[in-house]
Amino acid sequence: MAENKRDYYEVLGVERSASTEEIKKAYRKKAMQYHPDRNPGDKSAEEKFKEVGEAYEVLSDDDKRSRYDQFGFQGVDPNFGGGSGFGGGFGGFGGFGDLGDIFGEFFGGGSRRGAANNAPRRGENVGARLDLTFEEAAFGCEKEVSAQRIENCGSCNGSGSADGAVETCSMCHGAGQVRTTQNFMGMTMQSSSVCPQCNGKGKQIKTPCNTCRGKGKVRRTQKIKVKVPAGVDEGQSVRVRGEGCVGVNGGPNGDLLAEVYIRKHPIFTRSNMDVLCEVPISFTQAALGAEIEVPTLDGRIKYEIPEGTQTGKMFMLSGRGIPSVNNPKRRGNHLFTVVVETPTKLTKEQKELLRQLDESLEDTPKRKKFFDTLKDFFD
Ligand SMILES: [Zn+2]
Ligand SMILES: [Zn+2]
Repeated sequence: MAENKRDYYEVLGVERSASTEEIKKAYRKKAMQYHPDRNPGDKSAEEKFKEVGEAYEVLSDDDKRSRYDQFGFQGVDPNFGGGSGFGGGFGGFGGFGDLGDIFGEFFGGGSRRGAANNAPRRGENVGARLDLTFEEAAFGCEKEVSAQRIENCGSCNGSGSADGAVETCSMCHGAGQVRTTQNFMGMTMQSSSVCPQCNGKGKQIKTPCNTCRGKGKVRRTQKIKVKVPAGVDEGQSVRVRGEGCVGVNGGPNGDLLAEVYIRKHPIFTRSNMDVLCEVPISFTQAALGAEIEVPTLDGRIKYEIPEGTQTGKMFMLSGRGIPSVNNPKRRGNHLFTVVVETPTKLTKEQKELLRQLDESLEDTPKRKKFFDTLKDFFD
């Protein structure tokens, strides 16, 4: 079914970069054009009406839109693909989420939202900053982060009522919406709108709770524990399920998304799963070869550099890098570059020894080649 579907942006005739307002406008136009009341008995108009409704349902929701942009039809709730939410009668827009909103505005209805307010909804996700040291990111850790989220009010247990007394709304009898019939350009449209008495909740509170003023919810900054897996990198987010905002009307909680920031390390830098560092060596070590100590994530490791090592030469200790975030048993490599330090503050005797050494040395291959090339140029 999904492969026959047209791109949602194409359906609404808007650019991929369209603003929420542009999407809304485009939707209104198309929905009016294909509305079944205007095209009685026209199956293709009915199909198109459903199609634009579905496109709008996704593109008008920031979260769904971004999932659609990223993953296409698969990124959005499969229910929307099956048309189950769109197959209902055209009289009421209750099941259409924000559609009632648009028609409410369009037909000059009094309420802003026509959809029921008492359906279970997932809580919002919340973000947090996760500051890690180089080693914490490499090997994983448990950290506490601070996040602001909406929680159930502790004073009233989320009911919003001071004394716990919650009654069914007398106007909508708990449905949260009332049906209205309106006339527009000669056609009768029946739509549902939010119950003005309970604001769509279907319930009424006698005495509102003082702490939350009857809302049942409060915004709080909370410390939340995050299990950081080994191998996370800068800019990635660690998800903690259910630690976002509390769900609405019994819906599930949102998630916490903790974004990784890695502090600079005095010695190591990182390139994906590889760790890089520089190791200074003396020029005699470089010339004669030596066993040196290389700092790694696993501590100091002895390494034999060969004689005649040039400055800037890179060596590799395999499997001493960062663990893969997907498979901690797999690790990147440790790459170190040797930097030859020229001696300073030499004594007279040392200088004399070096002069003697220099006289006894033949030109090294690089220098010989360089001076030969110079000769070709200038002589
Ligand atoms: Zn309360
Ligand atoms: Zn009501």
